[in-house]
Amino acid sequence: MSDVIPFGKPLIGDEERNAVMEVLAGPILVHGPRATEFEQAFAAFTAAPHAVSVSSCTAGMHLIYFTLGLGAGDEVIVPAQTHVATAHAVELTGAKAVFVDAEEATGNIDIAAIEAAITPQTRAIAVVHYLGVPVDMPQVVAIARRHNLFLLEDCALAPGAKVDGVHVGLWGDAGVFSFYPVKHMTTAEGGIIILRDGELAQRLRLLKAFGVDRTHGERKVPGVYDTVALGFNYRMSEIHAAIGIEQVKKLPGFLQQRAENFAALAIALADVPGLRVLPQPMDSHRHSCHYCLGALLDEAIQEKRPAIITQLKAQGIGSSVYYPQPVPRMTYYREKYGYDESRYPNAARISDGLIALPVGPHLQPEQMVTIADGLRAILTGLF
Ligand SMILES: *Cc1c(COP(=O)(O)O)cnc(C)c1O
Repeated sequence: MSDVIPFGKPLIGDEERNAVMEVLAGPILVHGPRATEFEQAFAAFTAAPHAVSVSSCTAGMHLIYFTLGLGAGDEVIVPAQTHVATAHAVELTGAKAVFVDAEEATGNIDIAAIEAAITPQTRAIAVVHYLGVPVDMPQVVAIARRHNLFLLEDCALAPGAKVDGVHVGLWGDAGVFSFYPVKHMTTAEGGIIILRDGELAQRLRLLKAFGVDRTHGERKVPGVYDTVALGFNYRMSEIHAAIGIEQVKKLPGFLQQRAENFAALAIALADVPGLRVLPQPMDSHRHSCHYCLGALLDEAIQEKRPAIITQLKAQGIGSSVYYPQPVPRMTYYREKYGYDESRYPNAARISDGLIALPVGPHLQPEQMVTIADGLRAILTGLF
């Protein structure tokens, strides 16, 4: 049975369909004007000086570490509570992901624990704005400056999130977004890097396209170019960019609907026993862009989570788990580095106890009441 209230659903309209058909009707599928137009539109939305489109958020993060020259012997601080991509992007260069636990109230990296994880090998710090709640960036920026470290923001869940009015991704040295189908907006697959440093932006553009010295349009003789560096093919195609251009136009509306749904769901869940709403409202200098509502089950009942999720599903209510395990507990990392349970208690608690409930713009506040009623009936039965 497909869910009546799906966890996530990309909102693709005639605008996106027509834009894609227009690309397909023309001669240019890559190296065209749409990727540039999309970069300009997203840069305008975030007020970023530079934006570099890429084929995914993971590709963007890997491209940054590669461009910085990270490799074996280097370390990057990474939150334990995140998508595995945040760590993989480091490990793909040969460098080591050094995990730091989450803070309990938000699931974001525990800022107080960052400095203890810094060693002479540390080259960068990565933060993730978990569920769309911004990390307290001024504090992390101060740490990065003090230790002369590159600061990367994984903004996959955070378009629209700001700290002191400045969009996330612009506090650190670079911010990377994901346009995977169930994120705040989509290009099917895709990502973008925003940053202030124009020279680094140029270098990223070079290395995302083979390290070739001339873009397609710059070649005087067709097909003639030189290669000045080792690089990838991490470009975004014109088809993906055409979808993105239409989605950015709709993004403010999507975010507004998410905020309304989140508020409605938080209110409707207030009297439901056995859970705590994550994230709690933040201090006023941080503006969130809720990706989902995290219902954190009481520890006493968290082992019942699979049954609760199954019962929700039986009522047509979709949910998800963000993220299924602290990354250092996942097999690849556990086998490589070993897993010391005592080091990531908050990440483990959130990974094992949280049910991610939908607040996406495919839903309306009335459906938030349905979700809360469903969960209330299930949880009341447990007490
Ligand atoms: C989804 C996600 C990613 C991966 O994004 P892709 O575009 O699929 O590469 C990375 N980091 C976080 C925090 C995510 O939620």
